[in-house]
Amino acid sequence: MLNKKARVYFSCFMLILGTLIGFLLSKWSEIGSLGWREPDVITLTVRMPENGSLPSRMIYGKPDIAKAPRRDVMVLSPWLAPIVWAGTFNRDLLMEEFQHKKYRIGLTVTAIGKYVKLLKKFLESTERYFMKGGMVTYYVFTDRPDKVKALSLEVNRPLKIITVPKYPTWGHVVLGRMEILKNQSEVLFQQEVDYVVSLDVDMVLFSHIGVEILGELVSVIHPGYYHSPRKDLPYERRPASQAFIPEDEGDFYYQANFFVGTVQRIYQLATACYEGIVKDKANDIQAVVYEESHFNKYLVYNKPTKLLSPEYIWMNNLWRLKDIRIKRIVHGEKKF
Ligand code: UDP
Ligand code: MN
Repeated sequence: MLNKKARVYFSCFMLILGTLIGFLLSKWSEIGSLGWREPDVITLTVRMPENGSLPSRMIYGKPDIAKAPRRDVMVLSPWLAPIVWAGTFNRDLLMEEFQHKKYRIGLTVTAIGKYVKLLKKFLESTERYFMKGGMVTYYVFTDRPDKVKALSLEVNRPLKIITVPKYPTWGHVVLGRMEILKNQSEVLFQQEVDYVVSLDVDMVLFSHIGVEILGELVSVIHPGYYHSPRKDLPYERRPASQAFIPEDEGDFYYQANFFVGTVQRIYQLATACYEGIVKDKANDIQAVVYEESHFNKYLVYNKPTKLLSPEYIWMNNLWRLKDIRIKRIVHGEKKF
């Protein structure tokens, strides 16, 4: 009799335990991934309309000092530069500051030779996603101004075509870009813009890119190397080149196809790279990744004040890793 009762209790206990385990298992993926699945918009921002004499104001949740914006990735470099990832910022708050100061942004893009054909698609995407609500001027560096005009580009922001030399090879173009940036920073940008943004023309924007990218000197961590150890980063390691970085130095590997800065910082960066390139040429050496090697060298000793995560230059041939929540730009698909 007692045994029968015990069996009933045991069965009930097992049933409850089984239900409990089943429930926990069904929730496991959610519980296990909570660390990297916070919503992108952390705070809901509401703008209160102007009310009589009171100015309009923003209402948003108080930042919680105990709550890290992301726990799966580094959001602050060892030299205290923020690293921008989805989920780490509130664009409305940044816009408030931006509109207050009325910054002027120059978006520069090089389209030399057949690369002119990529300009239309590039600009269609920047019109849609680049710096909405910002004061943007496009600067197109090209050897074929007539071909650019013939594209009948429909853009709602001013577009300036700057004629540059017809550099004979791909290598001359990418190295020459630093020379162009240096020259234009001296003569044009310092009068016309506050921030310069330099992008490759073989890019298509897929998500909004806004004021979160602005800073004194901003570079993007290369999506192909962001989990790589230092020894695997493709820095120039030959001491004979001006782009040389010793084996035991270097922070991240940055891509030279997207960088941002104030006119003065861009001028300094471009000048340093240009001078390194000229010296290398005189010494008959070519840095391993062309201007990008000089760019990386500069940034080891002149640390960026802000870093953009690899979300900002994703490539379709890379695996989508769990720390990449958003593809903001896809780069490198060239259809001429
Ligand atoms: N570029 C150009 N004409 C050329 C070669 C390059 O206008 O003949 C410009 C263009 O803006 C291009 C950038 O230089 O996006 C870098 O070249 P590319 O995109 O081919 O380099 P990758 O991204 O493949 O390293
Ligand atoms: Mn490119």
